[in-house]
Amino acid sequence: MKSTASSRSTQIGDLPRIECPRCHIKVIRTKSRKDDVYYKCPNHFTTNKSTCPYYWYEQPYLEYLRSNHPELLNPASAAEVESAAEIVAEEVNGNLNLQIYQLKLELNEMKGKLGEVMLEIQETKKEMKETKNEIKEEIAKGNKAAPVFSCQIS
Ligand SMILES: [Zn+2]
Repeated sequence: MKSTASSRSTQIGDLPRIECPRCHIKVIRTKSRKDDVYYKCPNHFTTNKSTCPYYWYEQPYLEYLRSNHPELLNPASAAEVESAAEIVAEEVNGNLNLQIYQLKLELNEMKGKLGEVMLEIQETKKEMKETKNEIKEEIAKGNKAAPVFSCQIS
């Protein structure tokens, strides 16, 4: 069972309306018979192919706005939505956010430790390489005696 009933069938909501690139009149927001929201030039009619061809479904329209009219997309509104969602989340479970925050901190700490370990491994590799070179040099010198260092890594 659905607990929430939304009157909006759109996910994005009302987007700023631009002028049709061809007719220079404001596009209108409308719905298809399948209830898909789309934005179209008022001169566009699906039934008549000779009319203005400009129309966008919601997602492509948003993409179009992003690439052609970024100034119309107010970044603050997205942030507002996010913070509103955060407030709701806090009301639902204030502890969860704190836990996630602590987990993030721990994760960062672990990342730092991992970085240290990686450095150590790199150093060890370097040392092993040097040791190998030393052995090679010893062998090249004709010193057949077994190398003093028997370093075994399992
Ligand atoms: Zn048009």
